[in-house]
Amino acid sequence: MNALAPRLDAARAEAPVGTPGGAPAVSLAAQVAADFPILTRRVRDKRLVYLDNAATTHKPEAVIEAERAFYRESNANIHRGVHWLSQHATDLYEGARERVQRFLNAARSEEIVFTRGTTEAINLVAWSWGRANLKPGDEILVTGMEHHSNIVPWQPVCEQTGAVLKAVPLTDRGELEPGAFEAMLGPRTRLAAIVHVSNALGTVNPVAAMIERAHAAGARVLVDGAQAVAHQAVDVQALGCDFYAFSGHELCGPTGIGALYARHELLAAMPPWQGGGDMIRTVSFEGSTWADPPARFEAGTPNIAGGVGLAAAIDYVTGIGLPRIAAHEHALLEYATEAALRIPGLRLIGTAPGKTGILSFMVEGIHPHDLGTILDAEGVAIRAGHHCAMPVMTRFGIPGTARASLAIYNDERDIDALMAAIRGAQRMFGTGARP
Ligand code: PLP
Repeated sequence: MNALAPRLDAARAEAPVGTPGGAPAVSLAAQVAADFPILTRRVRDKRLVYLDNAATTHKPEAVIEAERAFYRESNANIHRGVHWLSQHATDLYEGARERVQRFLNAARSEEIVFTRGTTEAINLVAWSWGRANLKPGDEILVTGMEHHSNIVPWQPVCEQTGAVLKAVPLTDRGELEPGAFEAMLGPRTRLAAIVHVSNALGTVNPVAAMIERAHAAGARVLVDGAQAVAHQAVDVQALGCDFYAFSGHELCGPTGIGALYARHELLAAMPPWQGGGDMIRTVSFEGSTWADPPARFEAGTPNIAGGVGLAAAIDYVTGIGLPRIAAHEHALLEYATEAALRIPGLRLIGTAPGKTGILSFMVEGIHPHDLGTILDAEGVAIRAGHHCAMPVMTRFGIPGTARASLAIYNDERDIDALMAAIRGAQRMFGTGARP
């Protein structure tokens, strides 16, 4: 323990995670665990220890039941239906849109476009706003910690328009290089597309300040909120962003549903990016005219049950309270970080101050994929690889990491099981012995 103390102190100074004085992590988890039916199932004859929440969270009974009830009692296609059931389903779907509006504090519900998730929301902005507004030599500024879904959609749009994609470099702790974002903003920057919380590192970017600087430079700002919305309250009007994207499934909601928030005057000026039913005003063989937003951006029958499930998920997390969730996850991250640093040969990747509940790490002598497989045999589900953030791995000169990511239902027992399984893997590989 004494030999370890200086290492822990140094790491704490390096990575001051957690909310000092936060409630014991176990309390909230104990209260909510029964809401998540999947947590009772056994995996490989072991208690399921689910630490892959950044990939997708589990769903509480309230969300599962909302979708089930929709199909049992309210199922019909929405909009334009003259019969009662269609109007009822429309009310539920549009009610869900209002729930998302209130959740993000958007000024009006027409600023919420339902999408399949964050990826589709960013693609919508790239293909609609990007193609209509970018010219040769214009610049899109992203950060070095973006998920592929905030890199790849811009690349074909850059090819088509002649715009250029630039990325803000990262420090060794996994933060933006101080001053680099501001320095890279210039008269050619048309858009800053920035991740709120990194899924690979846990870093929380200072998006409010970044939005202010980008606006001062004349750029629009898109925020990728996929990893943010389940862990902190987001107010798009207070942030002042132009676009904000998130996925329902990272928020205890269903897969295949998410949303794009966009300021109304931007949406009103944007062309459609997909054609089909529901997004038109008139159609003839000579040409078509477009519906107003948000319908203009929602071609075809949408994920109606998913929208209803998403509304239930929002009710669920806001019912618990996002500040409570954040305090719980920060306290648990602090516990996990201290436990991880006691393991010889374990290196944390991403040690930014104030990071969220994501523990990315390497264990000396064990490839992350091997580690993931060995942990799985113990019932411990983590993710191993590049986490759809290859440029982060390139930055740190590693093939990938093992990643444990936390949610409300995790507790110290889960962390203890993770650490025991890592030590077991080290014994198997004959690594990790103290010198
Ligand atoms: N952005 C971040 C930061 C993510 O973590 C993810 C998914 O994990 C995405 C974008 C893509 O989200 P989806 O696959 O739900 O579209």
